[in-house]
Amino acid sequence: MAKVKVATVWLEGCAGCHMSFLDIDEAIIELAKVVEFSRSPITDIKEFVPVDVGIVEGSVGNTEEEEVLKELRAHCKILMAWGDCACFGGVCAMRSSFDKEDALRRGYIETESTHKGKIPRPPGVPALLDQVKPANHIVKVDCYVPGCPPEPKAILYALNELLAGRIPVLPSDMMRFD
Ligand code: SF4
Repeated sequence: MAKVKVATVWLEGCAGCHMSFLDIDEAIIELAKVVEFSRSPITDIKEFVPVDVGIVEGSVGNTEEEEVLKELRAHCKILMAWGDCACFGGVCAMRSSFDKEDALRRGYIETESTHKGKIPRPPGVPALLDQVKPANHIVKVDCYVPGCPPEPKAILYALNELLAGRIPVLPSDMMRFD
């Protein structure tokens, strides 16, 4: 049987959601028998190819992230958001309360440890968006695995539901964060 093709992207976030996925431990061996990862920070493959499932970690805070998310959406049948950043904006969205130039000035010039700071603006560095957005403000998202990071068991549950042909809806015990 052909393997289910999956691509994942890491946008504005800390990689903790991908780390949590790797924390499914030995379950990854069974998963690898039925799933093939293409573009992903896990494989380090950079090119998009058509896949069954796309997974996004991180919010969208600059033009490059917006482009990558649109590319992922265009190449996948089902798009799943991993983690609070992708689902709701998360900690990254705290920047949205401030003018983006003020945020850059604070980060690169005004911090107490900075001496003669300068805002880097070389060609090719993607521009910040005015607001940091969750994935569903840019593209259609089909299912969500919230948490910061989501529990490995929630990630595994969602993947297994997709493999069974169902759009995952997490049970309430996987939506409680103590
Ligand atoms: S949801 Fe939490 S763990 Fe995941 S990328 Fe955002 S900050 Fe990191």
